[in-house]
Amino acid sequence: MRQEWHQLSHPAVGSVALQTSRPTTDAEEAEALGLDRWRTLPRVQMPPWPDMDEVAEVCKVLDTVPPIVAPYEVDDLRARLALVAEGKAFLLQGGDCAETFSDNTEAHLLANARTLLQMAVVLTYGASLPVIKVARVAGQYTKPRSAALDSLGLPAYRGDMINSLEATPEARVADPQRMIRAYANSAAAMNMLRAYLSGGLADLHAVHDWNKDFVKSSAAGERYEAIAREIDRAMSFIRACGLRDDEALRTVNLACSHEALALEYDRALTRVSDGKAYCLSGHFLWVGERTRQLDHAHIDFISRIANPVGVKLGPTTTPETAIELCERLNPDNVPGKLTLISRMGNHKVRDALPAIVDKVTAAGAKVVWQCDPMHGNTIESSNGYKTRQFDRIVDEVLGYFEVHRQLGTHPGGIHVELTGEDVTECLGGAQGIADLDLPSRYETACDPRLNTQQSLELAFLVAEMLRG
Ligand code: PEP
Ligand code: MN
Repeated sequence: MRQEWHQLSHPAVGSVALQTSRPTTDAEEAEALGLDRWRTLPRVQMPPWPDMDEVAEVCKVLDTVPPIVAPYEVDDLRARLALVAEGKAFLLQGGDCAETFSDNTEAHLLANARTLLQMAVVLTYGASLPVIKVARVAGQYTKPRSAALDSLGLPAYRGDMINSLEATPEARVADPQRMIRAYANSAAAMNMLRAYLSGGLADLHAVHDWNKDFVKSSAAGERYEAIAREIDRAMSFIRACGLRDDEALRTVNLACSHEALALEYDRALTRVSDGKAYCLSGHFLWVGERTRQLDHAHIDFISRIANPVGVKLGPTTTPETAIELCERLNPDNVPGKLTLISRMGNHKVRDALPAIVDKVTAAGAKVVWQCDPMHGNTIESSNGYKTRQFDRIVDEVLGYFEVHRQLGTHPGGIHVELTGEDVTECLGGAQGIADLDLPSRYETACDPRLNTQQSLELAFLVAEMLRG
């Protein structure tokens, strides 16, 4: 089989030489691709697995399960992200900070997907460009933590793939079996989302009607009425052209993404296809601000897979580091392969981002520039909640747009933590959520998310920025 494949792709090359020079087993193929090199490298935020033999047993199961996504989809997303890198599309990425097994319900998944779709319609109109939609879903089950212990002195919660949020010492012990549950939940989530998205959930007309409801009910609705009315006219035009039932208006492509943190899981779901390694636990994987050391495990692992990948860049990132990341993660300079996700904080973005964008651009590196306006703006409320102010989130996106406009580069997209539910986790927005409102529906397992209304307001504001 394998020999035939090579003969097909290199018909001019003799088969005898191939038989001796190319690997023949999965293990040899993995070795040739360096898929396990990360195991020999320093690694921070390592899940505190109590028993590595059990981890190996679990990974043996994950080694052969059907993957969550398919290689052709991964290639397709990379190609669509190339459009973003070239300034011809916009990237919208969002979802929970941390997915949980108990919230992996039909209602929660649909609410989040629906909110992303609503935002995407507004952004598509604002940008006059296709919007690539990527959810933080079907694998976002691990969290990096700043401290090993939480405020109660318990081992920190590290995401449902690793331990439980429940505040007891037993529940916080890392349990490798949780990787199997994370896999099963991810598979079920993608299965359901694929079914609904191809079955009409994404119908452009319905999504626009939801947005009209938002404009009607939001306290800031008036501000957004003009854009909503323009979209309405565009929709009437589409209908008048007889395109009401066009396939492109009824279905959307929603990719799934998560942070590549528990490398055991992502490695076990990696498959070799056509001589390339595809990490099929998700379409898009990113490495976080805490784990992006150039000579450490996480960067090594994602440097070896064919997926489009991202790296978070905090305010202390030097332009030199950004260049080194481009060289490591996208040595062939393929557009769409690498997304640099700035998360500077609104007070720092205007100072910290320009030198990075400038140097990367001067080096000719092709990247997608994305703004995460959440993680640099986390504060503690007067009553002790981890929260974020809506105005600061908007201001970071604004700063990011200003920087890119000044430098002539494409502000390619946003990466946000949101939920399609009426939670009270972030302050402000037209609802005017205040410190004392936070306890009423503070439901996140980790960081504070924008609720439905705040998410849509952000989309309308970003649409205004896109229109200049
Ligand atoms: C996250 O995206 O949830 C996250 C932890 O981000 P960062 O690595 O930027 O802190
Ligand atoms: Mn987060």
